[in-house]
Amino acid sequence: MEEKCMYCQAEDERRLELMTKVAKLQVSTLHFYREQSYPGRCVLVHGEHVQKLTDLTPEAYAVFFADVARAAQALTELYHPDKINYLVLGDLCPHLHIHLVPKYEGRTDWGGIFQMMPEPRRYLEEAQEQVEIQRIREKLEEMANGF
Ligand SMILES: [Zn+2]
Repeated sequence: MEEKCMYCQAEDERRLELMTKVAKLQVSTLHFYREQSYPGRCVLVHGEHVQKLTDLTPEAYAVFFADVARAAQALTELYHPDKINYLVLGDLCPHLHIHLVPKYEGRTDWGGIFQMMPEPRRYLEEAQEQVEIQRIREKLEEMANGF
């Protein structure tokens, strides 16, 4: 745990402005990204202050990627994207996290490169955001036994 890290702090304003917690998976926590130009966009954050993928043992790597696969499967079943971009950047916050960015044919940046904050920004009404978060939560629970 790192004191200044926005993913290590339970209530970090910087993180809460960007994303809302959805659920804990095996070794990570899924967050719903508030900017929704790519419908269903989420961020999966490792539960420990791991700085790089290469800091994980092969076993820990496999468990983390099982979480990635489960989250991606839930988003696929709910949003039916044509593909998902998986981004591990870590330039601004060196705590292992993966952006899960669903892409849709003919929509934002289809065939082009993902943008961290596309313009114009698209935020959901708070009630709608809660509906989306609940749908993802329920889908993850439904899958818990079978994935
Ligand atoms: Zn951290």
